[in-house]
Amino acid sequence: MTSTANSVIYLKQWRTVRHTHPGAAFPPTLVRATGSLIDRLGRPLTDLRISVTDRCNFRCGYCMPKEAFDKNHIYLSRDALLSFAEIARLARLFASHGVRKIRLTGGEPLLRKNIESLIEQIAMLRISNGAPLELTLTTNGSLLPRKAAALKAAGLHRVTVSLDSLDDLVFRRMNGVDFPVANVLAGIDAALAAGFGPVKVNMVVKRGTNDQEIVPLARHFREQYSGSVTLRFIEYMDVGATNGWRMDEVLPSAEVIGRIAAEWPLVPLDASAPGETAQRWAYADGGGEIGVISSVTQAFCRTCSRARLSTDGQLYTCLFAGEGHDLRAMVRAGVDDEVLASSIAHVWSGRSDRYSELRDVRDGNRHAARPPHAEMSYIGG
Ligand code: SAM
Ligand code: SF4
Ligand code: SF4
Repeated sequence: MTSTANSVIYLKQWRTVRHTHPGAAFPPTLVRATGSLIDRLGRPLTDLRISVTDRCNFRCGYCMPKEAFDKNHIYLSRDALLSFAEIARLARLFASHGVRKIRLTGGEPLLRKNIESLIEQIAMLRISNGAPLELTLTTNGSLLPRKAAALKAAGLHRVTVSLDSLDDLVFRRMNGVDFPVANVLAGIDAALAAGFGPVKVNMVVKRGTNDQEIVPLARHFREQYSGSVTLRFIEYMDVGATNGWRMDEVLPSAEVIGRIAAEWPLVPLDASAPGETAQRWAYADGGGEIGVISSVTQAFCRTCSRARLSTDGQLYTCLFAGEGHDLRAMVRAGVDDEVLASSIAHVWSGRSDRYSELRDVRDGNRHAARPPHAEMSYIGG
């Protein structure tokens, strides 16, 4: 098509979108996808997290506290959710800009009906060198015993399971719905049996709530799983607006490492990939590795290459952004791939987010003073 014809089509689409969806992320110019996009701080776009549902069967106090997410909470309607075809289309366009890794998350992603079908569609996508995207999923593990084999068959590459305690009482309290820890452990075993090893297990550490579980969890996975599970400790973050975050409940990763190293000496490992969020450590005796994600005490904004697509198709360039960019409006107004890809390009090129780097960790009451953030279940953890 000639460039004049292109411009005419572009203008037509612009008028339609501006008229029907004034808030849509319509691009000021068309941008050709080159397989690489850099933001204002020189960071490439390589990772995309997609929240496939804002619902969850757990009520973890640090994410969806039951006082805020009670029976009166209004979830997105079915129409508001991106369909699988819409998600797969956007995933393809993100891949054309250099995204190599996609993580399906939520909410609890395994609650989304027929998630295997979305996995099949994304697993067919290819990046510019012809290789498949790396496709992973984060889950609370509750539905894995039922679903692990089907997820593997659909083409999912890896799973990460969240688990905050081995102590059943502590775990039941933390998940807010009295869910037994044995069922999550069964989910991890089901994932391994389905061929997902090594499985990553994420523990969010809250001082005074589950920090006594750090060493028992490390011991369990070291001794029972001989390298097939990599445990990672996440600092409790001030995401969303409902968890009542306080700095004094954050246990710095340095302390996590200190406690584990006191039992089993550790040696630092290099990052496995650029932009990796976890700092890796190996047990000196060869008993496998662990990771720490120090989002609060050692921010990693400088290498942050992650975009997030919310359940209803808003593009967020930071976990702590107040607002997203409306891609769903563009998709539903019928714009073509070139215009949609240009929207993504403009949003990423204009990005300068570095919330965690700027967070004042000495101010324990920061939560109260800052502008509102989107909830993690909606934006995708
Ligand atoms: N429901 C799934 C799960 O729990 O794994 C996927 C969504 S969840 C929002 C994704 C990850 O975010 C989980 O590992 C969870 O522990 C983590 N997370 C949620 N709220 C957090 C917070 N306030 N600080 C640190 N990590 C958090
Ligand atoms: Fe649900 Fe995951 Fe949030 Fe827990 S962390 S409430 S399991 S979305
Ligand atoms: Fe990335 Fe924002 Fe987290 Fe910094 S605060 S690492 S920019 S998501």
